[in-house]
Amino acid sequence: MDRKKFAQIKPLSQNLQYFAELDSTNVTAKEFAEKGAAEGTVIQAGKQLSGKGRLGRVWESQAGKGLWFSMILRPTVAAEYGAQITLLTAVAVARILQLLTNKNFAIKWPNDILLDGKKICGILSEMALDVEGDIDYTIVGIGININMSSEDFGAQLAATATSLYLATGIEYEREQVLRAFLDEFGRLYSHWQLHGFDDIRRSWLQYSCTLGHKVVVKDNDEEIYSGVAEDMDDYGSLLVRNAAGEIGSFDFGEISIRSC
Ligand code: ADP
Repeated sequence: MDRKKFAQIKPLSQNLQYFAELDSTNVTAKEFAEKGAAEGTVIQAGKQLSGKGRLGRVWESQAGKGLWFSMILRPTVAAEYGAQITLLTAVAVARILQLLTNKNFAIKWPNDILLDGKKICGILSEMALDVEGDIDYTIVGIGININMSSEDFGAQLAATATSLYLATGIEYEREQVLRAFLDEFGRLYSHWQLHGFDDIRRSWLQYSCTLGHKVVVKDNDEEIYSGVAEDMDDYGSLLVRNAAGEIGSFDFGEISIRSC
C-alpha cells in the first residue's frame, strides 16, 4: 500500500443540492463544475424537463417517481481510464438495488441496469479535460426508476422499462435509495483510485448480461458488426468475436448494442 496515495484519497463528501425541477441534472452539474464546485457535489432534481440519454436520446424523468441526479467527480486517474467510472457506477447501482430488494439485477454494457430484462436505471457520464489532457471533472448522471406504475410509464416505455415498485410492490423512499447509493459509490470510488480497476471489472463481469451473448453493434441505427461479446478490456471497451473469428473492440461513446 502506497501510504502517501492512501492519505490523499479522502472519503467522497456528499454535498447534495436539490432542485424541484431542472432541464437536465447533467447540464446543471456541468455549470456547477465549471464554476469550481467540489468533488462530491450532487445535483438532484424532483423532475427533469429534458433528461438526457446517450446519443441525444430522451430520458423520461417525471416528478416524484424516480431518482434523477448527477455527481461531480474530479478523479485523479489518467483520462484514458475515465470511462471506467461508468462501469464502476453501474456496479454500485446494481449492488445497492440488489441489497434493497433481494432481486437479481443485470448490467447491460455499458450503462443500463436491467431487472427481468427491463431497464430500471440509466447512467450517462460526461468527461471534461483540462489543457494538459487530464480529467478536469466528470459528471455522472443517474436515473433510477423508483415508484412508477405501468400507467406512469405509458404504453411505449412500459414494454421496456421497470421500477422498484413494479418489481417488488413496495414503495421505496427515494432519499433512502440515494443515500445507500452514495455510500456504496463512495467506497468503490476510493477503492478504484487506490487499487485500480481489477476488482470492479470482476464485479462488473458478474453482473453482465452482455458477455457470452450475441450482440449487434449499431452506429446511428445502421448495423456495422455482429458477433459474440467475449470480454471487456481495461478501458471498458467491449470485445466482440464475429463469425470469421476476428475480434472487434467497441467503446461506448458512439454505438448501441442489442443484447440481453
Ligand atoms: P441505450 O443505452 O439503451 O441505447 P440510453 O442510455 O441512451 O439508451 O437511454 C435512453 C433510452 O432509454 C430512451 O431511448 C428510452 O428508450 C429509454 N428510456 C427513457 N426514459 C426511461 C426511463 N425512465 N426508464 C427506462 N428507460 C427509459
